[in-house]
Amino acid sequence: MTSVDTPALLSWFDREGRPLPWRGGGVGAWEILLCEVMSQQTPVARVEPLWRAWLERWPGPAELAAASPGDVIRMWGKLGYPRRALRLQECALVVVEKHGGQVPTDVEDLLSLPGVGDYTARAVACFAYGQRVPVVDTNVRRVVARAVGGAAEAGPPSTRRDLAAVSALLPARREEAVAFSVALMELGALVCTARVPRCDDCPLAGSCAWLAAGRPAWDGPRRRTQTYAGTDRQVRGMLLDVLRDGDGTATAARLDAVWPDAVQLERALASLVTDGLVARSADRYSLPD
Ligand code: SF4
Repeated sequence: MTSVDTPALLSWFDREGRPLPWRGGGVGAWEILLCEVMSQQTPVARVEPLWRAWLERWPGPAELAAASPGDVIRMWGKLGYPRRALRLQECALVVVEKHGGQVPTDVEDLLSLPGVGDYTARAVACFAYGQRVPVVDTNVRRVVARAVGGAAEAGPPSTRRDLAAVSALLPARREEAVAFSVALMELGALVCTARVPRCDDCPLAGSCAWLAAGRPAWDGPRRRTQTYAGTDRQVRGMLLDVLRDGDGTATAARLDAVWPDAVQLERALASLVTDGLVARSADRYSLPD
């Protein structure tokens, strides 16, 4: 197994890394946690304006914990996967009540926060607190699979295996390990992309196992491509739009007009109620108080 050419990767990042507002100094752990939650399955360009506006309105966990859930859902807007918004508020509450308003530093404590999984916990530990921990997202898995493993794709995820693989690549020095993690994620986002990796522009081209092997085709299990049009997720989004765009309430008849398939609409609406994103009273639906 080859390793990653860390000096080449770091100097590429110095030249090409995007100056995102949550990178660099002066950004607190809560701000970083917020951006990591917002960035899950969501492009950075859509996250950045909301991240700024969100922090302006609710600068820290105490302010968010005290907000009305309806306002939180409304503010989340069209970022998608709106359960994240409620989980974030639950997370803020736990940070306030159990951690004195400070985002915990320990990975295990971070993992116990609502909505914080393996990736987010280590991203906060690494990017906010400068810890030498493996940070593994989809981009990192793909780059490592190619550059180190010589395979076109990463294959099915395995937390234990993926963390071990990235751990083995981390530079020994803490600061360098943090820089390595940021740079590897960025390389996966900008150069070693899923569809068309730009090997000609890649700082790892000289050491990449997949490139050296002649870029063999992937013969493992195919990834499922996620669709949106016609799914319950789309219908849920349309129903929430009606509530968010108006005064926060709507009659059942108004919501019935959103989607032609009554069975699917009913299912989507029921799931929103179950998730706590919508409250029901008689024949009216509303964002939660
Ligand atoms: Fe990815 Fe190509 Fe760079 Fe290898 S050389 S890490 S495949 S972009």
